[in-house]
Amino acid sequence: MRIKNINDMCDKPCRCGSWLEHWKNLGQQPLPTTCAAKGCEHIPVAGAFAQKDNYFDDGWFIVPLCQKHNRLFGACLDIKDGVVLVSSRLSKSCGSVPAEAPAAVSTPAPSDQHNEIAAVHYL
Ligand SMILES: [Zn+2]
Ligand SMILES: [Zn+2]
Repeated sequence: MRIKNINDMCDKPCRCGSWLEHWKNLGQQPLPTTCAAKGCEHIPVAGAFAQKDNYFDDGWFIVPLCQKHNRLFGACLDIKDGVVLVSSRLSKSCGSVPAEAPAAVSTPAPSDQHNEIAAVHYL
Protein backbone atom coordinates (compact mmCIF):
# COMPACT_ATOMS: atom_id res chain seq x y z
CA MET A 1 0.00 0.00 0.00
CA ARG A 2 1.13 3.53 -0.71
CA ILE A 3 0.65 6.27 1.82
CA LYS A 4 1.51 9.91 2.04
CA ASN A 5 3.24 11.29 5.11
CA ILE A 6 1.26 14.34 6.17
CA ASN A 7 2.97 14.66 9.47
CA ASP A 8 3.53 18.40 9.18
CA MET A 9 -0.17 18.89 9.74
CA CYS A 10 0.56 18.13 13.30
CA ASP A 11 -2.28 17.97 15.73
CA LYS A 12 -2.29 18.03 19.48
CA PRO A 13 -1.79 14.54 20.76
CA CYS A 14 -4.73 12.91 22.45
CA ARG A 15 -4.79 11.60 25.97
CA CYS A 16 -2.66 8.69 24.92
CA GLY A 17 0.26 11.13 25.23
CA SER A 18 1.77 10.56 21.82
CA TRP A 19 0.53 9.31 18.50
CA LEU A 20 2.71 6.25 18.85
CA GLU A 21 0.92 5.41 22.11
CA HIS A 22 -2.36 6.12 20.36
CA TRP A 23 -1.43 3.62 17.68
CA LYS A 24 -0.64 1.02 20.33
CA ASN A 25 -3.84 1.68 22.29
CA LEU A 26 -6.17 1.60 19.34
CA GLY A 27 -4.29 -0.91 17.22
CA GLN A 28 -4.45 -3.24 20.22
CA GLN A 29 -1.23 -4.90 19.39
CA PRO A 30 2.41 -4.50 20.25
CA LEU A 31 4.50 -2.12 18.26
CA PRO A 32 6.13 -3.76 15.25
CA THR A 33 9.87 -4.17 15.56
CA THR A 34 10.52 -2.25 12.37
CA CYS A 35 9.31 0.91 10.68
CA ALA A 36 6.20 0.57 8.51
CA ALA A 37 8.03 1.74 5.38
CA LYS A 38 8.91 -1.06 2.98
CA GLY A 39 12.52 -2.14 3.21
CA CYS A 40 13.19 -0.15 6.37
CA GLU A 41 14.56 -2.04 9.33
CA HIS A 42 14.78 0.81 11.79
CA ILE A 43 12.87 0.89 15.05
CA PRO A 44 9.62 2.88 14.88
CA VAL A 45 9.92 5.90 17.14
CA ALA A 46 6.89 7.95 16.22
CA GLY A 47 3.33 7.66 15.09
CA ALA A 48 3.16 9.62 11.86
CA PHE A 49 0.07 11.08 10.26
CA ALA A 50 -0.57 9.55 6.90
CA GLN A 51 -3.19 9.46 4.21
CA LYS A 52 -3.77 6.68 1.75
CA ASP A 53 -2.42 7.77 -1.57
CA ASN A 54 -5.70 7.79 -3.44
CA TYR A 55 -8.58 10.13 -3.90
CA PHE A 56 -11.23 7.83 -2.59
CA ASP A 57 -10.14 7.65 0.98
CA ASP A 58 -9.01 10.85 2.60
CA GLY A 59 -9.08 9.58 6.15
CA TRP A 60 -6.10 10.25 8.32
CA PHE A 61 -4.18 7.43 9.83
CA ILE A 62 -1.35 6.86 12.19
CA VAL A 63 1.47 4.60 11.12
CA PRO A 64 4.53 3.73 13.18
CA LEU A 65 7.60 5.10 11.46
CA CYS A 66 11.28 5.40 12.24
CA GLN A 67 12.81 8.80 12.82
CA LYS A 68 13.98 9.16 9.24
CA HIS A 69 10.69 8.28 7.60
CA ASN A 70 8.72 10.23 10.16
CA ARG A 71 10.54 13.36 9.03
CA LEU A 72 9.81 12.91 5.34
CA PHE A 73 6.92 15.33 5.31
CA GLY A 74 4.83 15.08 2.19
CA ALA A 75 6.65 12.01 0.97
CA CYS A 76 4.85 9.02 -0.46
CA LEU A 77 5.93 5.80 1.15
CA ASP A 78 5.30 2.21 0.25
CA ILE A 79 4.43 0.45 3.44
CA LYS A 80 4.78 -3.16 4.36
CA ASP A 81 1.90 -5.54 3.97
CA GLY A 82 -0.01 -6.12 7.14
CA VAL A 83 0.86 -2.81 8.74
CA VAL A 84 -2.06 -1.69 10.84
CA LEU A 85 -3.34 1.79 10.08
CA VAL A 86 -5.01 3.30 13.10
CA SER A 87 -7.45 6.11 12.59
CA SER A 88 -6.19 9.39 13.94
CA ARG A 89 -9.71 10.27 14.94
CA LEU A 90 -9.95 10.40 18.64
CA SER A 91 -11.81 7.47 20.02
CA LYS A 92 -13.78 7.32 23.20
CA SER A 93 -11.00 5.35 24.75
CA CYS A 94 -8.59 8.24 24.57
CA GLY A 95 -10.39 11.52 23.90
CA SER A 96 -8.75 14.84 23.40
CA VAL A 97 -6.57 16.60 25.90
CA PRO A 98 -8.75 19.08 27.77
CA ALA A 99 -7.89 22.42 26.28
CA GLU A 100 -6.45 25.03 28.58
CA ALA A 101 -7.51 23.35 31.79
CA PRO A 102 -7.80 25.89 34.58
CA ALA A 103 -4.91 25.86 37.01
CA ALA A 104 -5.61 23.30 39.69
CA VAL A 105 -4.25 25.42 42.49
CA SER A 106 -5.60 28.93 42.68
CA THR A 107 -4.37 31.39 45.26
CA PRO A 108 -7.10 32.10 47.76
CA ALA A 109 -8.83 35.37 47.18
CA PRO A 110 -7.49 37.98 49.58
CA SER A 111 -9.90 38.45 52.39
CA ASP A 112 -11.63 41.78 52.29
CA GLN A 113 -12.79 41.42 55.86
CA HIS A 114 -10.50 44.18 57.01
CA ASN A 115 -11.79 46.55 54.40
CA GLU A 116 -15.31 45.80 55.50
CA ILE A 117 -14.44 46.63 59.04
CA ALA A 118 -12.66 49.77 57.98
CA ALA A 119 -15.67 50.76 55.93
CA VAL A 120 -17.90 50.78 58.97
CA HIS A 121 -18.30 54.30 60.21
CA TYR A 122 -19.98 55.14 63.47
CA LEU A 123 -21.88 58.30 63.10
ZN1 LIG B 1 -5.42 8.40 21.58
ZN1 LIG C 1 11.80 3.86 8.28
